Parts: sequence; structure tokens; C-alpha cells
Amino acid sequence: MTCIERTPEEIRAILSQLVELQEVDREIVQIRHQMAAPPAKIKALDTRLAQEQQEIEKVGAGKTDTGNERRKLESQVREIEGEIVEHQKRAMQCKTNKELAAVNLKIETLRKKMDGIETRILEMIDQEEAHDRRVAQAHEKFERLRGEMQEERHRIEGQIRSKNEILGRLAAERQRRRKTVPEDVLALYDRLSERHPGDVVCQAVHSHCGGCHINLVNQKMLEIRQMKTFVRCEGCLRIFSGEAEA
Ligand SMILES: [Zn+2]
Repeated sequence: MTCIERTPEEIRAILSQLVELQEVDREIVQIRHQMAAPPAKIKALDTRLAQEQQEIEKVGAGKTDTGNERRKLESQVREIEGEIVEHQKRAMQCKTNKELAAVNLKIETLRKKMDGIETRILEMIDQEEAHDRRVAQAHEKFERLRGEMQEERHRIEGQIRSKNEILGRLAAERQRRRKTVPEDVLALYDRLSERHPGDVVCQAVHSHCGGCHINLVNQKMLEIRQMKTFVRCEGCLRIFSGEAEA
């Protein structure tokens, strides 16, 4: 690059072309960076979905099938009902008050026993129904989250599509701008781009490098003002496009 003689005016013109090229490159870098970042909402929804899946499994595993036990209890109830009917028949045939009292006591005892069993059956039905409700709620929540997830995925897919479209336009613009820059300067720009993508050309700001912020000596500031050649930072090797206005 040093072998090509250029006037400060030519150098300044090339620098402004470089700055224009860099604007496009910077935009490309930013969009690629955005696209590479894992979508936080998707990750959060993923975690919540996994939690809900576990919840469904946990709730589902808590189910105790009381059907058999309940049927057993129900047949006990029918047996006791039969016994009560038998005792009621016997009560009709009782000859003495003492006999009648004994039969009535027996009937009373059987009724209490039956009440106890019926209460237990109702409790079991309640438990099963409550369990079914919990399972249904867990499924409902899971489905709702899955819907949200799908919406979010569609939204992100849309974003990716539009970003790809923008990248396509920027790539064309980039090619157009690269053609305006002399080859030797472009080679340097590309080399520096590997180290500082989209951030190769900077200004001197209050006698500091706008890129790495090291202090610039007076000689360097003079070179930047004169622009007899491409002036670069000793620290980060960036190319100075000029001095920022105070
Ligand atoms: Zn620097």
C-alpha cells in the first residue's frame, strides 16, 4: 500500500468510501449477531414446557385406582342392606319387647356400619374426581404453553426471514461499495476486519484512538490532520479516518 503515491485529498476520499463500506459491514455484523443469539423467550418457554411435562407426569403418577376397592365396598353395602331387610322381617315376628329391642339394636348397628362404608365410597369418588381435575388442569396448562411456544416460533421465523432479506440487500450494497475502494486498501481493510469486524476505521477522539482509546502522541495527531498517508493506531492497528470534532 505504501508504494502507491496518493494525495491527501485522494486518501480522504478513499477513507470516506471505507467508512461507507464499514457502515454496511457493521450492520451485517449486528444482524448476524442478533440472529446468532438464542431467542431468550423460546428458551424460557422450553424450560416451562419441560416443567409442565414433569407436572403432568407427577400428577398422573399420583392416581390410585380405587375402582376395585369401591366395588368391593358397594357389594358390602348391598349385603348389609339385605341383612337389614332380613332383620326387619324378623322384627315383625318378634313376640316380646326384649326380642324386638335386640333386633332393632342389630338393625341400628348395621345401619351405622353401612353409613360408614357409604361415606368412605363418597370420599373415594371425591378423591378420584379431584385427581382427574388436577390432571386436566395440568394438560390444559401444557397445551396453552405449547400454543404460546408455537406462536413465538412463528414470530421468530418471521423475524429470521425478514433479517435474511435485509442481509441479502446489504450483501448487494456491500459489493457495490467495495468496488469503489482501491484493491490495496480493500486488502488491508479485509485483514483488519478479521480482528475488528465492522470496526476497522475510526476517528481520533480528544487525542485518543476511537477504537482502543489509547493516548495518541502529538506526532500521530499531526499525521492524522495532514493525512499524507493512511494513518493507523499503534495499539489496535485501526485506520484513522480523521479527527472527531470537539
Ligand atoms: Zn487504537
